[in-house]
Amino acid sequence: MDLILSMHPMARAWLLDGPLSSYVGAFQALLERGRYAEGSSETALRAWSHFAHWMTKCQVSAEQIDDALVEQFLDSHLPRCDCHPAALRTRSGLSASLGHLLALLREQHVIVELPGPSGPIAEELNRYNVHMRDARGLAIGTREDRLVPERRAGVDGVGRRSIRTLRRHRGERR
Ligand SMILES: [Zn+2]
Repeated sequence: MDLILSMHPMARAWLLDGPLSSYVGAFQALLERGRYAEGSSETALRAWSHFAHWMTKCQVSAEQIDDALVEQFLDSHLPRCDCHPAALRTRSGLSASLGHLLALLREQHVIVELPGPSGPIAEELNRYNVHMRDARGLAIGTREDRLVPERRAGVDGVGRRSIRTLRRHRGERR
């Protein structure tokens, strides 16, 4: 908590009161687990805080974060960012820290995993997933429940290698 307390009050408010506020405990655990150097932890917190501020401005929720959104922040917002000077603007620091944010949100099942198997079936499932998210706005848990049986059905015709990839993707042994 010390690092959060030592942040600029504005940046701290973006982090603690913004759309990522529910994950502050997980951020701290991640920083401790990764044994980041103090400077890196500070960069990560400031990166997440700037991103959270931008999310608020764009009315984006944590469930909507994906690689494309992070790219939009880095490529479209950052070059013309006029946020408070407390916002971290170092692209390399932002890029690395937002990569960790994506991994954390996937680990916590806030956002969906990247598709494991590749090929036409995986692409089709991915399109279906995007469609479900965009057109129907279903909760992530519901979407995953619906996808799993279809993945099983699709992979049966593809062979053992894809089954192994799928199992690995789903965190199963063998
Ligand atoms: Zn900004």
